[in-house]
Amino acid sequence: MKFIIHCPNFLTLIAGRQTSAMALFPFILSREKSQDMSPSLLCHETIHFRQQLELLLIGFYLLYLVFYFYYRIKGYDRFNAYMSIPFEREAYHFQDDIEYLNQRPFFHWIKFLK
Ligand SMILES: [Zn+2]
Repeated sequence: MKFIIHCPNFLTLIAGRQTSAMALFPFILSREKSQDMSPSLLCHETIHFRQQLELLLIGFYLLYLVFYFYYRIKGYDRFNAYMSIPFEREAYHFQDDIEYLNQRPFFHWIKFLK
């Protein structure tokens, strides 16, 4: 179940101009109209849905911020801090694998801690 909401201005306001989409289960906020979203981007955001559900939503958002600020404090710039978040590392790693979510182990993002 997913609902894609086309809201480029809102996305820019909360996440910046470079953000193409954001998963807030069960919604995907998107810069593009749903028919223009790439399969990779849809898969990426759907992987975030799975992570969000296994952490009961709030755990995902809290940990996401904790990881982001942990890497920022370590001296990473915004982009590299974002790319180091294990939720993102898992989603980017598997976003082109259509079969991934059919066989994904629970809490697989833990394997992407670094
Ligand atoms: Zn992501």
